[in-house]
Parts: sequence; C-alpha cells; structure tokens
Amino acid sequence: MTKKKRKSKVKEIILKGIPAAPGVITGKAYLLFDEEYPVPQRKKVSEHFIEKEILRFKQALAKARSEILSIQHRIAEEMGMDKARIFWAHLMVLEDEILIGEVIANLRKEKLTVEYIFWEVLEKYVKVLSKSEDEYLRERVSDINDVGKRVLNNLVGTKQKTLENIKDKVIVIAYDLSPSDTATMHRKNVMAFATDIGGRTSHTAIMAKSLEIPAVVGLESITSKAENGSKLIVDGSRGIVIVNPKPETLKKYRLQKKRFETFEKHLIKLKNLPAVTSDGKKIALAANIELPNDVPSVLAHGAKGIGLYRTEYFYMNRKDLPSEKEQYEAYKVVAERIAPHPVVIRTLDLGGDKFLSQFELPREMNPFLGWRAIRFCLARPDIFKAQLRPILKASVHGNLKIMYPMISGIEELRQANAILKDVKKELKKKNIPFDKEIEVGAMIEVPSAALTSDVLAREADFFSIGTNDLIQYALAVDRVNEKIAYLYEPAHPAVLRLIKTIIDNAHRERIWVGMCGEMAGDIVLTMILLGLGLDEFSTSPIIVPEVKRIIRLVRYQEARKIAEKALTLSTGKEVEDFAKARLKKLIPGVILEKRKK
Ligand code: PEP
Ligand code: MG
Repeated sequence: MTKKKRKSKVKEIILKGIPAAPGVITGKAYLLFDEEYPVPQRKKVSEHFIEKEILRFKQALAKARSEILSIQHRIAEEMGMDKARIFWAHLMVLEDEILIGEVIANLRKEKLTVEYIFWEVLEKYVKVLSKSEDEYLRERVSDINDVGKRVLNNLVGTKQKTLENIKDKVIVIAYDLSPSDTATMHRKNVMAFATDIGGRTSHTAIMAKSLEIPAVVGLESITSKAENGSKLIVDGSRGIVIVNPKPETLKKYRLQKKRFETFEKHLIKLKNLPAVTSDGKKIALAANIELPNDVPSVLAHGAKGIGLYRTEYFYMNRKDLPSEKEQYEAYKVVAERIAPHPVVIRTLDLGGDKFLSQFELPREMNPFLGWRAIRFCLARPDIFKAQLRPILKASVHGNLKIMYPMISGIEELRQANAILKDVKKELKKKNIPFDKEIEVGAMIEVPSAALTSDVLAREADFFSIGTNDLIQYALAVDRVNEKIAYLYEPAHPAVLRLIKTIIDNAHRERIWVGMCGEMAGDIVLTMILLGLGLDEFSTSPIIVPEVKRIIRLVRYQEARKIAEKALTLSTGKEVEDFAKARLKKLIPGVILEKRKK
C-alpha cells in the first residue's frame, strides 16, 4: 500500500516472466497502484472535532458501500451475476466491526485525522495478513486494499484510479490483480496485463486466458521498471515484457503481432474441421470453462464439448452458498448450449489457491496438501449433495458428466459414489428425472491416484488428468510460486511416466482418458500426449485451434514414435528440446513460448 519510488528510465528493459495468455500487444502502461494512492498526512485534530471525524468516517464507508453496490449492479448487468459476486467480499470488509471499532477507538485515543488513523489500521492489517501462513487470509489482503483505497479516496476527496475509469487503450501493470480487477478489466480499453507475481497455473493466469487478452505474470519487478505512460510490448505467447522498446524492437514486434493475427485468423478457419490426425485417428478436443459466460468462447473456437467446468467460481466471493436452483439454471444453460457434446462438471474443488469467503476454514500450513476438493466434500455431504442434486437434475438437458477432483485412492471414489447413489435414490423417490447413465469420472491429479489408476479404472467411467496439480505434487513444486517456476516442468520424465501409466491403465479397463490441466494446451507437448494415447484434450478455448492444427497435421503413427522416444530421455530439458525440434519440423516457423526464466 505504501508508495513506491520510481526512477525515470528510458533505457530498453526486457523482462522475462511467465506466459499467462497468448498474443502480442504494444501500448502504454497504466499502473494500477501508483502515486495517486492517497497516503494521508499525519495531522492532529482537536478533541472538539473527534465526533465530526467519526461521522466523516461513517459517511465515507456508506459512500464506498453505495459505490461498490452500483459497480456490482453494473457488472451483473454487463457480465452476469457470477462475476458480480466477487464484490460481496468487499462489502464484508466495509462491515467488519472489529476494523471499524479499532479505527474509532484509535481516533479517540490518538486524536489524529480519521484518514490517517484508518490508513494506519489498514497498514497493520495488511502487514499481518500478508505474512500469514494461511492462503485464505493472505488473499483477503487484496480485498482490504481495494476497499481501503476506496474509503481513503472518499475521505481525502481524490478520485480513485481503477480499471473501470480508464479512458484510453492501455496495458495494465500491477503487483497482482484481485478478482474484482479482472472482472472490471473485461473492457475494451484494457489491451493486456502484466504482473509482478503469479505462476502459470494460478487461477489469475487461467482467468487471463478466458478474458482473451495477452498477459504475462510473475515478472517480479514490472511495477518498479515501468512508469505510467511508458511504452510497452507485452508478448503473452513468450512471457516477455519490454519497457521503453527501441524503434527496431518495436518494428520487430509489429511484424510479430501481424504474424500472430494472421495466424489466429488462419486458425479460426479450422473451427469447423474435425480434430483428426492425418492418418485418420479422431481425437476429442474440448475446452475448460470457469463460468457459464465462457460458453460463447468455447463455441467460437470450435471446441466440441467442455472437458472441465470449474464450478468453484460459482461459490467464490459471496457471502452465501449458491442455491440449488441457481446451480441448476447454470448447469442447464451450459448443457443445452453445448449439447450434443459433453460437459464434464467438476464438483467443488475448494482449497489450494481457490478459497471461498463463506467458509471458515481452519488455518493450514500447506493448503495445497490440505483439507481441499473431494476431501472437503466428503466431510460436508450437505454441501456436496446440494451440488450433486442440481447436476443430476440438469443432466436431462444435455450430455453431462460428473468428475471428482483430487481423488487420491479408491476409497474416496467409493465414498463419493455412495453419496451420489443416495442423491439418485432421493430423486427417483420424488420422480424427478435425471440421466440414469450419467458417466462419473475421477480427476487424476495426485501421484497416488496415478499409481493406482489400474484400481481406479475399474470403478470410474473416465479419467481426466489434472496436470496443474499432478506436476506440483510429483515434482514437489508449488504451482503458484514464481521463484521456483523453472522447476515446474511438464516435460519432466517423471510426469511423462505418470501420464503413460494413467493412460495405459485406463485403456486396459476400456475407459477414456482426457487431460484438462494446462499441459493439454502446451503445443510443444501435443504430439507426445497424442502418441501416449490421450483420448481427449481440454484447454482454454483460445488454445483449442492451435492444438487442433497440430493434431490435423501429424500422423498418429508418427506421434506414437515421438512419444516412445520421449520416454527414453533423461531430463525435462532433453524432452522439451526433442519435442520442439519435432514440432518445428512439422510446422516450420511455429511460435514457441519460452518456458523457463
Ligand atoms: C489441474 O489441477 O490440472 C486442474 C485442471 O485443476 P485446477 O487447475 O482447477 O486445480
Ligand atoms: Mg487441480
């Protein structure tokens, strides 16, 4: 929250980060948290004015409340209720009695202006929460920052700099982006974004792809290297941001941008063509969605189905749980719009880097290894059933499938299925129709599940490999930590071996296997995955055409040989170099992203 000193720099600076969403853009920087942030002066007020200060504080809170409600209303109208819900968390901060009480008590004690006291209290909260081991508490920092800024601006009388008020086309630069930032950022004027922190599979990066603007995360120092108005190039495909580019660099990137646009136009022409290899092997090519609003993009990019519907976004940033009716409506709409193609609904995957404001979760040292996903749902069958019921009810409107996240062994699959059976019984009793043959699959994203996939395959209808988590668990690399991003290697031999084990075990039991982690959209590895026998690829909608292009160009028999060879290599780098060389042979001039920093 404190101001950052920035020196004026005109030198070209090249920063390497993590590619979050593809595309190349040139434009002017817009720093989200810059000098305009009001840090109040430390000023005394006389005893006589204390009550007036309290009144001023209450008025500023009320004004912030009405501002947030009106943004929420506008976002709900323009982008749907799902995205508007994130503002509940902000309203909760405004109503936090402990925080408000502390400001008033300190004000009476210290007799300083209310803006200064409020700022002091906020700073204290932010400091304590940022250091917390608890991911949930750390995530509250961005809510406090958002709301704090709004209230301070009301107290000091300055106009807040937010993404809603942007008048020109800009590239947004920030330390990190809060959910409300990304929601309000879906505007014509935000051309790209670049942030200091974040990993390639953090939900911020995943959100960037669904917004369909180029983005680079994990740049570490972009907020101190760029100034407001600095000229920038954001290369979201390679994970590069250039500050103050030289004329020759600009020229080079203009050409690259043109190439990328032509490439996109060319790819979209593949929209109605099947995903079939040149020697006739059909592959299912689906897309991942976070919200029902993402469906048009799925259709526009020619995906044939949804391989992962991350339902937890439904539960995020709201005070209450979604009602069964609300859920039913959402699942029904998605099922109908995608029919006859399948929609894999993943049941609530709370935890890791996805925390829900309505649950008082215990503090955990390692949230990714903690009480999350199916573990939480099995412990809270009331919440689990309240999701399974609307999924089943909506199943008559299309081709729905159910998938459980974070299954680590057969017992969890059995327990989840027993709960599902109860719900089916209940619906049958009430004569409520549902698809009796609905397929039920397991996400394979925990090494123990991969290694016992022979057992799981006997009792699951399908598998979907969640590589985002599988890689972090197999290689012991936190998926959202940019400091160790170089160790997060999808091409690591250990990962390839696990994937091969999963696919072989599934096929032995004659069930299909998809992949819905970000690796499914990593075009360097498409031929290897194809050759390992993957039946379905599910990626962000914008990546679907790129994967389809490769599938349509390669011979399946060739892909099998490529996979076989890849399995003999010793390091991730060897696999990657080999895969890149084969891809360049298949598509000379292909644009490849930089994986490591
Ligand atoms: C995964 O882990 O690969 C996955 C698709 O799930 P999420 O990214 O939501 O954890
Ligand atoms: Mg996962």
